[in-house]
Amino acid sequence: MNGNGINHSTMQEHATASQSVAKLDRAQYYLICPNCDLKLPSKPVKHRINAHCPQCDTLLYRGKHFLLHTNLMLALSGLLFFIPTLFIPFISIRLINVNFSSNLTSGAFALFNEGYTTLGLLIFICSSVLPLLLFLSVICAHWGLKHHHFTVFKYALVTFQKLKHWWMLDVFLLSIAVAAFKLREYSIVTPQIGLIGLIFAQIIAITLILRMSVRRYWQRWHPAEHYSEEQISSHCQHCHLSQPHTTQCRRCHSPISFRKKHSIQKTWAYLIAASVFLLPANVLNISIIFSNGIRYEDTIFSGVVTLMNGHIPIAIIIFVASILVPIAKIIGLAYILICIQLKSSVDQYHRMKLFLFVKWIGKWSILDLFVIATTIALVDRDQILDFSPGPAAMAFAAVVVFTMFAAESLDPRLIWDTTNQPNNKNEASYEE
Ligand SMILES: [Zn+2]
Ligand SMILES: [Zn+2]
Repeated sequence: MNGNGINHSTMQEHATASQSVAKLDRAQYYLICPNCDLKLPSKPVKHRINAHCPQCDTLLYRGKHFLLHTNLMLALSGLLFFIPTLFIPFISIRLINVNFSSNLTSGAFALFNEGYTTLGLLIFICSSVLPLLLFLSVICAHWGLKHHHFTVFKYALVTFQKLKHWWMLDVFLLSIAVAAFKLREYSIVTPQIGLIGLIFAQIIAITLILRMSVRRYWQRWHPAEHYSEEQISSHCQHCHLSQPHTTQCRRCHSPISFRKKHSIQKTWAYLIAASVFLLPANVLNISIIFSNGIRYEDTIFSGVVTLMNGHIPIAIIIFVASILVPIAKIIGLAYILICIQLKSSVDQYHRMKLFLFVKWIGKWSILDLFVIATTIALVDRDQILDFSPGPAAMAFAAVVVFTMFAAESLDPRLIWDTTNQPNNKNEASYEE
């Protein structure tokens, strides 16, 4: 296993834990990769060198030392920029000599008013509630750590860990650009001050997501006890403590299961549900526009074809996000599931990469729904210019949600279950 050691130099950041950590640096101990179950010996390496699993390339530790306190500062400033965007407009249009504007919540409320409650709720949660919760979870984790309040600390970190995959403000920002391009045909579009808040909230959130390590917070709460290769057999997916066989983590008390329960069945169920909705999402109309008394209807594809006439980059974005991504996600996950069920031991490394890619691209398919929400908030002027979502919008929302649930419910360790051997060609995966 020489060369497979991982970096735990990142543990040394805090003076309070430094003594115990220094002791552990000298003793070799083992831990388990959360994504492939490979047992790895720890090996102190240089500062700023990230540690990746030699088998599946999962980033185990970041080598750079970040101060936890800076995360709190980032979360507070993120909130400071984000909260005003719930009330201050980020875009306005001038139509029939009147200005209309939209803030972060206008789209969702316009959908509620039109009777699209479920769609409105989905947009409201993804664009407003989840970003707010993400910043708040970091603040609560710090509060829990400071006051040594276990429940607040634990659930704040659980919330952060879940929500970071559902961060969609970047998709929302792209949707504003797409909506603005589309609306330029009918009106004068002007960006408003709220857009600055959204951009800053996005930059801060991405910095925060890249810096935050749930494991480090738990190290601060209670430094890990270390075990030999023979002793460890369970890994906590929440606080990342590798420990002797157990069904409940000895540090954070989260339940530990060998594999996610009914992972294959649940993933298939979500994929089948997504596939069922894929057809109406693409065949029915997704948007209906009334302009000067004439009704124009568009499916996703006909919308893309119309955009090809002069707005090729926007057409490509919509085509990739709304047509290519959902189909690629369903096919990709189905392929991984079939390989798992056939117990294929070939090319697990690339299947793992495919899984992580599919998980990452999933959120971008919600783009068109954000465009619809922004457009409906701005363009709802009855006979002169009116916009409303078509029946495909709900089906499309179902595809987006089901494919995201499918990726969440698949346990990546199943991909590696047919092998116990490290993939030697990936041994040298410790990159700066
Ligand atoms: Zn691994
Ligand atoms: Zn734990």
